[in-house]
Amino acid sequence: HNHIDHATPEKVAAAIATGDTHAHVPDYDALASYQADGGYGKLAELRADGNWETVQETVLSSGLRGLGGAGFPSGKKWGFVRMNEGPRYLAVNGDEGEPGTFKDRYFLERTPHLFLEGMLIAAWAVEAETCFIYLRDEYPAAREILETEIASLEAAGIVEPGYIDLRRGAGAYICGEESAMIESIEGKRGLPRHRPPFVAQVGVFNRPTLVHNIETLLWVTRILREGPEVLSSIEKNGRKGLRSYSVSGRVNNPGVHMLPAGSTITDIIDACGGMIEGHTFKAYQPGGPSSGLLPASMHDVPLDFDTLQPHGTFIGSAAVVVLSDQDSARDAALNMLKFFEDESCGQCTPCRAGCEKAVKLMQADQWDQPLLEDLCQVMGDASICGLGQAAPNPIRLVMKHFGEEI
Ligand code: SF4
Repeated sequence: HNHIDHATPEKVAAAIATGDTHAHVPDYDALASYQADGGYGKLAELRADGNWETVQETVLSSGLRGLGGAGFPSGKKWGFVRMNEGPRYLAVNGDEGEPGTFKDRYFLERTPHLFLEGMLIAAWAVEAETCFIYLRDEYPAAREILETEIASLEAAGIVEPGYIDLRRGAGAYICGEESAMIESIEGKRGLPRHRPPFVAQVGVFNRPTLVHNIETLLWVTRILREGPEVLSSIEKNGRKGLRSYSVSGRVNNPGVHMLPAGSTITDIIDACGGMIEGHTFKAYQPGGPSSGLLPASMHDVPLDFDTLQPHGTFIGSAAVVVLSDQDSARDAALNMLKFFEDESCGQCTPCRAGCEKAVKLMQADQWDQPLLEDLCQVMGDASICGLGQAAPNPIRLVMKHFGEEI
């Protein structure tokens, strides 16, 4: 809850002196200053005289893809949702529960209106009747900022009262899965749905629903204000665009680092001021626990959508964790599976019983690799949602790259 990067020694001393060391809302760009800088001009222009297909074309030409982890081309979703008769809804996924991911919080606590304007532009594009924002409950400062700024938008007449409906999550990882999030918005237990039908057809309260991640919507605003080149002109290792890597682990300067989408782990460690003294780079988690672990020898792979598939993993939400020679890959993988065991919604047997079984097998002195491989196969093939389907990744990657530890 503490916003360390906003704390100065003077602020900390003052807080201790007054006994007020609880969470504080950080300084951020509020409505008045955002508008003074041209904010909401683009939304007003589009509402007055915009063509949604032109806007869609601009967003598609930037190359923007869903930054919650799935990487679906953002503009395309608008077309799928519009194909279905209204009323339509927009639901923002701000659950950000993937361990190691904190970029959405970073942006919400600094530039909330870049996100809110993008949300209203996307809502305009699909003629959404209501915008639901599903916010991770562990982000109290972000919630306070959003409550204040949504009230300001209503007072300024930019949205009708109640048009933006801010919902609190309740700490369940699975509610970041889009169909479970929709169930939760409807007031039900967060259980992922079978697909098809897709949420673009049958979403919140069975209506066509556009689901976007917070950072994705922030980029919609920037693309429309600054041009698609803001992303498309940046190229590295054959990849285009920018990624907000949430970096933690054994580096000197962890945090959100915005780098070209084709960056490798070497570039990321460099951007983080290198490894902490006394630590040698050994392994890394490229995109949340669902992505497992890769060895330091794979230091030259661009960390972007699609590039990790041949290596049995994916970039997901770009939550990078750097491990050193003082860490155990085996312990890290076990920790990941314990997390999945806790967070499995329990709806389907391959995941509910599979995660539990995997944890037991991984606690043995020596792993029973053929049995674990069988288990991974069943979980991957037969689980309903991404949690159970991707849970085998840490197991398989440790068996492949860190055989000496197991
Ligand atoms: Fe629930 Fe796991 Fe099945 Fe997903 S895979 S529906 S989290 S039990």
